[in-house]
Amino acid sequence: MGELPRRVRVVVEAPQHAAMAIALDYLSDRALPAGTLVRVPLGKREVTGVVWDEEPAGAAARPHTVPTELRPVAQVFDALAPLGAGWRALVSFAAGYYQRTVGELALSVLPPELRRIDGVALARRLARLRAKGLADAVAAQPATPDPGAVEQPELDAAQQAALQAIATAAAHQPPAAVLLHGVTGSGKTEVYLRLAARVLAQGRQVLVLVPEINLTPQLEARFAARFPGHRLVAMHSGLTPARRLRHWLLAHLGEADLVLGTRLAVFASLPRLGLIVVDEEHDASYKQQEGARYSARDLAVWRGRAESVPVLLGSATPSLESWQRALEGRYCHVALPGRIGGGALPRVRFVDMNLLPRTRGVTTALAAPLVEAIESRIARGEQSLLLLNRRGYAPVLHCADCGWKSDCPHCSAWRVFHKSDRTLRCHHCGYTQRVPRACPACGNPDIQPLGRGTEMLEEQIAELLPTARVARIDADTARRRGALESSLAAVHAGDVDVLVGTQMIAKGHDFRRITLVAAVNPDIALFASDFRAPERLFALLMQAAGRAGRDAQQAAGSEMWLQTWHPRHALYAALRAHDYEAFAASQLAERRSAGLPPFTHLALLRAEARQAAPAAAFLEAAARAVAGLDGAEAVTVYPPVPPAVARVANVERLQMLLESPSRRALQRLLTAWREPLTALRAEHRGVLRWAIDVDPLTI
Ligand code: ADP
Ligand code: ZN
Ligand code: ZN
Repeated sequence: MGELPRRVRVVVEAPQHAAMAIALDYLSDRALPAGTLVRVPLGKREVTGVVWDEEPAGAAARPHTVPTELRPVAQVFDALAPLGAGWRALVSFAAGYYQRTVGELALSVLPPELRRIDGVALARRLARLRAKGLADAVAAQPATPDPGAVEQPELDAAQQAALQAIATAAAHQPPAAVLLHGVTGSGKTEVYLRLAARVLAQGRQVLVLVPEINLTPQLEARFAARFPGHRLVAMHSGLTPARRLRHWLLAHLGEADLVLGTRLAVFASLPRLGLIVVDEEHDASYKQQEGARYSARDLAVWRGRAESVPVLLGSATPSLESWQRALEGRYCHVALPGRIGGGALPRVRFVDMNLLPRTRGVTTALAAPLVEAIESRIARGEQSLLLLNRRGYAPVLHCADCGWKSDCPHCSAWRVFHKSDRTLRCHHCGYTQRVPRACPACGNPDIQPLGRGTEMLEEQIAELLPTARVARIDADTARRRGALESSLAAVHAGDVDVLVGTQMIAKGHDFRRITLVAAVNPDIALFASDFRAPERLFALLMQAAGRAGRDAQQAAGSEMWLQTWHPRHALYAALRAHDYEAFAASQLAERRSAGLPPFTHLALLRAEARQAAPAAAFLEAAARAVAGLDGAEAVTVYPPVPPAVARVANVERLQMLLESPSRRALQRLLTAWREPLTALRAEHRGVLRWAIDVDPLTI
């Protein structure tokens, strides 16, 4: 006792644009180290917060200067070690870079359960965790063990060279990030495992990021089998809140040696961090699309540098941002040139849709030679995978008599026809209705689907190949709990001949018996307006191709088919040659001449309102406010435009692009802009929401 009340600075989850300082001041009867979790009063509520700064020395020396009107801290989470300096630095940086408040970011990246419970409840959970040990902390293992998982294979020459190069890069101060570039099956994961083994042997923690929850069980099984003596936890939004908290605590306590998770895991508290792996680093899922729109891949690189920890970015088709950095020597480029065991990559074959016969003006789902190729696969007991990146039965219904189309009354988009439950569903706002029996406009009973989705494809395959066992995997079939796992298990067990699906089936899954992959209609993405569409399509198709012939014995006969109206397109030519580098070179040349990333840096200011006019007025005022701000001289501000889908759920959306050759200038401007924007928002009452998206993935 005897300590005088002192001031502590606490960050709390505050509304994004509230004109609030970084931290709020509270009274504490003892010194609280930075990173301590506390409960504090905020208005009429009590909320969880994090002590942010150490108390300034002066304030501690002169306690009588502490204003007595400050409210006291309600509770200190004494049972929990404070969040470390590394974690706080990461949160501070991310908040600044992505233009959010520190409090919002800090609290939003902690497990929701931790924010909900009080210090007493947390102490109880910690005690239970320690008492129970870690028996149940390690997630259940899925049933498809990889043959290479348990036994450590002899590394081949390329892998050895890769490890050597990575060790050299890691010896730099700070360690240089490594881009590990190799096709599916080239042995990247084995390299991750070897590096992890070294780091674990040093008593340090390994963080492995994967793009999707679905991919965690497979990788988890592989790591768990290889490192039976180490504790592994998963971290993603699919865990129950209690489990997510438990796993987070195990990482924070240093009890978990391996943390495997999706983008949110980049913010895991890891006191002994020794290695970060970002698998499929090019994947768009690493960018958070709401709230603080951070890139987990970019933050992983930042965190690695800040904590002097090696970062390994793995991909068969690196993002052009990472590729350019490798070309510039900022990342160390390490290549695994071919598949393990010399397995061939699938031969790429094209079906020129222009040459196909048409029935009633409609082309069939699959060209005859492709159907034959699938049939011969079935006869040999092999599997085929058909990729169509569009779920539902048909993207739109229409009436040939009056021209009615199944538009969404709330969005500027069509509603998709889902035949299985006979609904029209808007994929933007969720608005769902029974399919009308007749045209709602003119009563014509003969309304027709336009275009084709995975549901229709599944149905058409069943007609074309009546004896085939067909399965479909997309966001609709995966909705039911456990449905995805059982479908995947059926594919692995060989109970499926033809698997139809969206990009969900193209990613990561280690299907052993697939020898044919076909992209049914890849052209959809070829002429999309987004400048990243070709990059995404190429990555998707390369990844899909990687599903074929994963077994070296079957690799020689494996094929990737593309049905296209543009068989001579440069993207497809690069794909045919499995030539990522040629594709990247042509894309980078285009980006350079068009002044696009990675040669420029972008940010979007988005605004939403019931009508377009107030949103536009806000953005125009915001553009005027740029003049004279720090950094403005190096930033180009473009006029506001609607995004591809302008209206969603009766809200009009507009966005304004900012572009600069200098990341720093853009950052300075965004920071200086915050205050005027907050003020403008108060003047433009019609604006419902606004947000800044730094390094947006779609513009
Ligand atoms: P990627 O991550 O690039 O897809 P993996 O590391 O999964 O590649 O390797 C593909 C397959 O080859 C896996 O089944 C793996 O167990 C096996 N493998 C990897 N490295 C070797 C090696 N040096 N010798 C034998 N098999 C290997
Ligand atoms: Zn009609
Ligand atoms: Zn809608």
